[in-house]
Amino acid sequence: MTARIMEADCLFCKIVAGSIPADVVTETERVIGFRDIDPQAPVHVLVVPKEHYGDVAQVAAADPALLAEVITVADQIAGSLADGQFRLIFNSGPHAGQSVFHVHAHVLAGAKLGWSPA
Ligand code: AMP
Repeated sequence: MTARIMEADCLFCKIVAGSIPADVVTETERVIGFRDIDPQAPVHVLVVPKEHYGDVAQVAAADPALLAEVITVADQIAGSLADGQFRLIFNSGPHAGQSVFHVHAHVLAGAKLGWSPA
């Protein structure tokens, strides 16, 4: 699977391009982190590769270094906005809760988190 630079009608491609506003907390050449519009924890940031991949398995297969960068950036966000501890979630597929089909890591931090995914 090759990444596309931008997918038409993709919400996160539009945020990457700057055509839809977002509360950006960090950015590298290949990755952007912005606050989730419906936060589920005191810190809830989405870390998004700028290139378009549909889900985490696709980016892992095509570009493992990019996936590693997503995790490194997540760790940095948890260190700068919280105490360095964090939960990282990739919803993959509608039954898992994925609603935006441009790969993104949810970084949840800033509180003692519960565990009730079902
Ligand atoms: P998922 O359901 O795992 O695909 O996650 C998509 C996330 O994107 C949800 O947590 C939404 O709250 C979040 N979201 C949707 N639209 C926006 C937006 N415009 N800016 C920031 N976060 C958004």
